[in-house]
Amino acid sequence: MKKILSFALAAIMLLSVALLCVSCTEPEIEEEKPILKMGTNAYFKPYEYYDGEKIVGIDAEIAAAIADYLGYKLEIVDMEFDSIITAVKGGEVDFGMAGMTITPDRLLEVDFSSSYATGVQSIIVPAGSPIKTADDLFAEGATYKVGVQLGTTGDIYATEDLGADRVTAYPNANNAVIALKNKDIDCVIIDNEPAKALVKDNEGLQILDTAYANESYAICVKKGNTELLDKINEAIVALTKDGTIKTIVGKYIK
Ligand code: GLN
Repeated sequence: MKKILSFALAAIMLLSVALLCVSCTEPEIEEEKPILKMGTNAYFKPYEYYDGEKIVGIDAEIAAAIADYLGYKLEIVDMEFDSIITAVKGGEVDFGMAGMTITPDRLLEVDFSSSYATGVQSIIVPAGSPIKTADDLFAEGATYKVGVQLGTTGDIYATEDLGADRVTAYPNANNAVIALKNKDIDCVIIDNEPAKALVKDNEGLQILDTAYANESYAICVKKGNTELLDKINEAIVALTKDGTIKTIVGKYIK
């Protein structure tokens, strides 16, 4: 009798261990989170770019941290930079984040969060270019052609300063650099960190020492969407305080 009992006990124990193992290997059912859609242009390394199929970079990671902090799942939608504000206004995406500079004109169309990073407009030239400083571009009689990304601050400033005839706007940074290498244009005006990445990835190019403009990057939301804007600002404060944003930036900018 004792033997039977201990046998039964052993069997029960074995069964429960087996059951426990089944439950522990079963995938955890992920709790359904609401989705937060971000519009960006993923040709802007190190802020947003493709690593295989995945969009990574400073903005992609900060956005994921913000979404996580607020209890959302982040979805990134890649589009031309020039379409982001339209997509935000039309509600196709909840917010835009693309190394986007706060400008007076954009403030008429969307609302911006507090700034999470700063940028500088730089000038990329081929090695040995006669353009040595920003002033060479503006010199009397200068005819140098400038490439920019459509709808960016580089586009806005260059068109203002040099006139539309001397400026060609490309859909993204890669297209502008290809045109520069083809000698269709004499320089590219673009944000400094993407400029560094482009020069690193493309031989025979260099960045001029003189900068063109200093700016602040922020996240944009549909005008009047204070509910989301307040949440994003709260997340930026918290993620700045706990060092998350600094760690993410440090991962991409040495
Ligand atoms: N900072 C620039 C702007 O806001 C460029 C941004 C970008 O090309 N992604 O216009």
